[in-house]
Amino acid sequence: MLEHKTALVTGSTSGIGLGIAKALARQGANIVLNGFGDVDGARAEISALGADVFYHGADMSRPAEIEDMMRAAAERFGRVDILVNNAGIQHVAAIEDFPPERWDAIIAINLSSAFHTTRLALPAMKAANWGRIINIASVHGLVASAQKSAYVAAKHGIVGLTKVVALETATTGVTCNAICPGWVLTPLVQKQVDAKAAALGVSNEEATRLLLGEKEPSMQFTTPEELGELAVFFCSPAANNVRGAAWNMDGGWVAQ
Ligand code: NAD
Repeated sequence: MLEHKTALVTGSTSGIGLGIAKALARQGANIVLNGFGDVDGARAEISALGADVFYHGADMSRPAEIEDMMRAAAERFGRVDILVNNAGIQHVAAIEDFPPERWDAIIAINLSSAFHTTRLALPAMKAANWGRIINIASVHGLVASAQKSAYVAAKHGIVGLTKVVALETATTGVTCNAICPGWVLTPLVQKQVDAKAAALGVSNEEATRLLLGEKEPSMQFTTPEELGELAVFFCSPAANNVRGAAWNMDGGWVAQ
């Protein structure tokens, strides 16, 4: 379905980004890989699916590096057709203890980077009259949790940005939507499980059960593979008129 299309997925060396990159590669897309994780491992996994892979190590907190990545991707493949804004970090602390530099980093990486990639990708998408922008927000783009001020602010922000981009492209073949996962067991969440296990002096299994039990009625993690298939749906012709949605895949988290 996505042969001759190019998908750029920020933060795709692990977790959800890697799952989405693999799902799009399975549909035939070329992949622009980005992130600080195991680049060779991610490249090998995606190449094994037959995709042409190009890596750019732009730091998503640095607009000049984002500009360089977007330029390099267009040079390599002609155009970015599918943009998945996925790179993200977390920091957990009460607001009065929240380090200001962590606030700035989370807003830059989880929110402002999507503004920069989007503004740079849109002209070519509009010229081709086809494009897909998929923002990986979170249930924290829809509801809050204590101790996550910067993350919740950034994720609510990216849901808002998604709606504006959807309106500005509403009469074109470009769509913009957000995906709002609940808990997904990736390195980002494993750190929170480890912190809970250490704080409560319980096993990894017990900490996982407590983490899910607090918020996610299904008591199951969503997987990067499931999120990848939702991204594939957003890229399909059936989703031509899905615009500005914030689609939760969260085991019932925000239904409560
Ligand atoms: P992860 O830690 O596995 O992946 C994050 C990716 O972003 C990695 O490839 C990392 O190298 C990259 N990255 C981090 N800082 C970067 C920077 N400055 N520049 C470029 N790349 C950078 O985490 P994940 O759980 O897969 O998270 C991916 C996205 O999904 C994030 O936006 C996160 O907020 C969101 N999300 C995760 C969950 C979850 O439960 N894991 C739930 C909802 C939303």
